[in-house]
Amino acid sequence: MFSHSDPAGFLPVGQLPQLVAKLMERGYQCLGPTVENGAIVMRELRSAEGLPRGLQAEQGPGHYRLTRDPDNRYFAWANGPQAIKPHVFAARESLWQVQRDESGRLQFEAMIADVPAQAIIGVRACDLAALALQDAHFLRDNRRDPQYARRREQLFLVAVQCAVPAETCFCASTGDGPTPTAGYDLALAELTEGFIAVAGSAKGAAVLQSLNLSPATPQQVEAARQQGEAAAASQTRRLPKRDLRADLMNRLEHPRWDAVAARCLACGNCTAVCPTCFCHAEVDTPALDGQSSQHERMWDSCFGESHGHLHGFNVRPDIRSRYRQWLTHKLATWHDQFGRSGCVGCGRCIAWCPVGIDLTEEVAALTAGEVPS
Ligand code: SF4
Ligand code: SF4
Repeated sequence: MFSHSDPAGFLPVGQLPQLVAKLMERGYQCLGPTVENGAIVMRELRSAEGLPRGLQAEQGPGHYRLTRDPDNRYFAWANGPQAIKPHVFAARESLWQVQRDESGRLQFEAMIADVPAQAIIGVRACDLAALALQDAHFLRDNRRDPQYARRREQLFLVAVQCAVPAETCFCASTGDGPTPTAGYDLALAELTEGFIAVAGSAKGAAVLQSLNLSPATPQQVEAARQQGEAAAASQTRRLPKRDLRADLMNRLEHPRWDAVAARCLACGNCTAVCPTCFCHAEVDTPALDGQSSQHERMWDSCFGESHGHLHGFNVRPDIRSRYRQWLTHKLATWHDQFGRSGCVGCGRCIAWCPVGIDLTEEVAALTAGEVPS
């Protein structure tokens, strides 16, 4: 996006409320960034006035703090603890229920939530890449997850180019940002005087047309392109390469796994905030009268003791094996499943780890030098 070949409109900064209004007119429930408990989260917007302006998100290992943006922009914060994942893969939901009918037979019924059409405003390039990975998992041929599919088809995504990546971001090295390139309905790049806007779908083009925007000037498009390049160049963290499969799988007995296990609390924060993690547990909750039961799915974590529990033993009995499972699945064996790494470089697992474990630092230590014999 924001190349000279894409037809781009220019949305003056004062007209941002019109975008929200147009989406509402089309029946979308609008979700946008909101400050809650000191962090930016996606919540329902009643109007564009609810959008936080003039905020940045200072992030580091085990650190997240909102600060003032000297340029008073709408989208100068890099990301919050969650973006799209909870809106497609619900943290907890019922998949089906079973009831005993009058003749005593069990009747099963799928439960598909009646979700509204939702427009999410302020989605980042890393979040779009993560959504594509979640789609690859939940919408596989012959194994389409109906609950996920229902929520997914209701989404309208307004992406925003990251102009101010956080210190924890490394999406440039994974190839997923900071400028959105695919997977959005509309994409914006925020400049001082307003937004360059491009459509990425027929739905997005219809909304863009309804805004009656003037075309963006070549200078504005060039400014957006350069802004994306500067944001990528400003990132200081990185992964050494996109395919680390052999590098990690050849080092399964590296002493660094012990060192990181000594720090890791196995709290699972990293998997909860990770936009690509999809592990879940399923439980049946019977009614007290024994006449019905609900089958629920809830987010789970490979850091939990029960996650590796098989009949009679645990395949990952210690934190070393659980951290190793997480990192090697995310960066190595994910390639076998999905043809790419499971990390989109959002940096959330670094910022929200209570002891500040930094995935990029662990990878650098694990892959430095020869394979230990
Ligand atoms: S790496 Fe950090 S966030 Fe993840 S389980 Fe360990 S302590 Fe928790
Ligand atoms: S592993 Fe960490 S940096 Fe990579 S996508 Fe997940 S939360 Fe983001």
